[in-house]
Amino acid sequence: METIETFSPEETYMLGKKIGEAACPNTVYALNGDLGVGKTVFTQGLAAGLGIDEPVTSPTFTILQNYDGGRLPFFHFDVYRIGDIEEMDEIGYDDCFFGGGVSLVEWAEIVEEILPENTVYITIEKDPEKGFDYRKITVQNSEERS
Ligand code: ADP
Ligand code: MG
Repeated sequence: METIETFSPEETYMLGKKIGEAACPNTVYALNGDLGVGKTVFTQGLAAGLGIDEPVTSPTFTILQNYDGGRLPFFHFDVYRIGDIEEMDEIGYDDCFFGGGVSLVEWAEIVEEILPENTVYITIEKDPEKGFDYRKITVQNSEERS
């Protein structure tokens, strides 16, 4: 497990970018953390690291947004408003997770049961004692969780 502390949105973006630059096909990033903690900022960095120029926004009302302009196809899920896990099947999540691209799921804990074995778990937390812009980010691969 790796723990990184950031002190600005830019630093969180740069961490995402570094991870995006190294991302391999069929990797799923499970992103967890409260509303407003920086999941989308991190995702924007990861997309930039994949070479995506298009602006990445929070796809809250669509669940899935995909981007084709980068080094690998990128699938950005935000499952905050999902009603039922069946919706993931309807979206065709497995074609995203296992189709050679890179997937990232904001609010992944909601769909935990369908996350593949090799999922990389990233959690972002605040600590009010350490300031408004402080974030603690942990990155954990599947072996480290079992
Ligand atoms: P989420 O997707 O988790 O709901 P967003 O990424 O949309 O959150 O928003 C995070 C907000 O927190 C942004 O307004 C961003 O500027 C702010 N912020 C402050 N400090 C940080 C930090 N260290 N890392 C990421 N975001 C930060
Ligand atoms: Mg978000």
